[in-house]
Parts: sequence; structure tokens; C-alpha cells
Amino acid sequence: MKRLPSWFLFMIAVAIFSAAPKVYAQSEFITRHMPYDAFDKLPATIVKVEGGTLLVAFAPGTLTLPNTSFISWIAKSARAVSIYYGRFPVPSARILLVPVEGKGVSGGKAFGYKGAAVRLLIGRDSTETDLVEDWQAVHEMIHLALPEVGDQHLWLSEGLAVYVESIARVQAGDLTEAKIWGEFVRDMPQGLPEAADKGLDHTPSWGRTYWGGALFCLLADVEFRKRTANSKGVQEATRGVLASGGNMERDWPIEQVFYIADNAAGVPVLMELYEKMRASPAPTDLGALWRDLGISVRDGVVTFDDEAPLSGIRRAITQAPGAAKSSLTSSGTTELNGRGEAPAQH
Ligand SMILES: [Zn+2]
Repeated sequence: MKRLPSWFLFMIAVAIFSAAPKVYAQSEFITRHMPYDAFDKLPATIVKVEGGTLLVAFAPGTLTLPNTSFISWIAKSARAVSIYYGRFPVPSARILLVPVEGKGVSGGKAFGYKGAAVRLLIGRDSTETDLVEDWQAVHEMIHLALPEVGDQHLWLSEGLAVYVESIARVQAGDLTEAKIWGEFVRDMPQGLPEAADKGLDHTPSWGRTYWGGALFCLLADVEFRKRTANSKGVQEATRGVLASGGNMERDWPIEQVFYIADNAAGVPVLMELYEKMRASPAPTDLGALWRDLGISVRDGVVTFDDEAPLSGIRRAITQAPGAAKSSLTSSGTTELNGRGEAPAQH
């Protein structure tokens, strides 16, 4: 048989290559921005949660655990977020899981500009325990519940994610009250103003952004509850933002977020606290706050005092909406052990 001309074979090769779908390399999934186009070429698993649908897809790479373990972890994380907000913050979100070296979740980021999305870097040697202990999936999903308020107010976005992540996981039954209060007592001092502090809007240090923002949320929660006979808090206020169409897919001025959130709770706590803390250090006496809330930590052991003046507020903060009060009245002691590194991601 006569041999085919080489140019003809070349044309066939070009035609086959062109017809094949583009295959994205692993590196194309860890670019600075969310790789929406690459994500949409991946096979995705649909996970239904209260008020939302998640599309979960894996970037190329190998994992020791089966994919189903990671899907379950995403579903459990989304459940905690849905319990806090009453529903998942957005009707639909892409969840991209990228296998990387190591074990545990080594990074995460939330995106909103072309549709709500979360990307998580998952160590290929991750174990079930790593997934149980992970906080980053919940943290990133909470970012989806706040409109983009601009880089100057990153402390609000990160502070809410740090604060609500802890509260939501207690309300979901995934963490104990002693665990998160013990960590707040240990870590919240990192959010206090240092010398030359210019307030939350003008001091973009790591401590002021993550823990200064979380302290702002805790102070707001306590103040809301003081002024509403312990009936409204940050939970009701942030649900009001979602109910008004606010989420990460929107750009809102921070004043609009606070105005709507305050209205939902019925008292202008966020706006007043923002005026106080935006451009001046506004130091907080954390020792007095923990004492009034009835929390003490000695040698890593957390003890609650239910006779403390704000102990009812402390219990209400972690009480799941609709839960019977009796099931959450807890006192006594719990061992506090380390819960990994403080958040360092968006
Ligand atoms: Zn974050």
C-alpha cells in the first residue's frame, strides 16, 4: 500500500488534537484568580445544602483518601455555615479542591466576581482526622456571606470569617463551647492595638486584620445582646444582610452592610462600634470581658462561671437557633488543646 504523505498525517494529527477537549494541568488551578473556565471542564459532584447547591470538583492530582471523604467534609462544612445563616449564603457555589503536597488543608480562598467560588488546597496525604480538625472550608464559605467591602475593610471580612467559623461549628455540634472560648482567650490578644495603631481601617497588620476583626465582631455581638434583652446578635444582623441580597457576588460600601445589619437587629451597634474603632486604637480590656462573660482559662483548662453578669449572653452566642435552652446550658471544665495555626489565608 502506498504510504500516506507526511503532510496528510500531520493534518490528521492536528485535527485530532483540536477536537480533543483542552486538558488543564494542575498548575492552572492554583493561579491568583479562580480558574472558572478550567473548573467548568472538570467533572463535578452536586452537593445539596439548605438553601444552596454546591458543585464540587477535583483538580488533577492524587489523594490517599477517597474523593467521597472530601465530599463529606465539604458537605459537613457547608451544613455548619447553613445553620448559622439559616441557609447557605449563595444559591450556587463552585468548590474547587486542588491536591497538593503534604497533609491537611494548606490554603483556601473565596471568590465572588464571576460567581461564588471557594478553592481549597488539600494535602494528598490528608487523613480523616485532618478533615475533622479543618477550619478553612467553613472559613472560606463564610466569606461568601459578606459583600465585597474593599481592601481597606479586609478586617471585617476576615474578622467575621474567624469569629463566625468558631460559633457556627459549635452551633452545628462540631466543636465544644469550651474549645472556642478557650481559643478566643488565647488568640484574641493578637487583635489588640499596638503602639502607633491608627484604627482598624488604617492598620492592615495580620493581627489587626484577623483577630482585630474578630474582636470587633465579638464586641458587637455582646453589645447587640445587651441592648436587645439578649434576643438579637451578629447572627440576626448578618442574616439581614443576606436577606437584602448581600453576598460576596456584590460590591457594597461598608456603611451599607452595617446599616442593613443594624436594621435587622433593631439597634445601631455596628455603625457605632465602627465609628469608634475605624480610625483610632480603641483598646479593649479583654480580661474584664472574659470575666464578665464567665470564662477563665488556667493551665489550658477552660472553666465557665454561670453566675457571671454576661454568662447568659455567652451561652446565647453559641446556641443554635431554635435549640432548646436546656440542651446548651453547660458548665464545668474542658481540656483545651491546640487547634493548629491561626488563620493566615483569605
Ligand atoms: Zn479569610
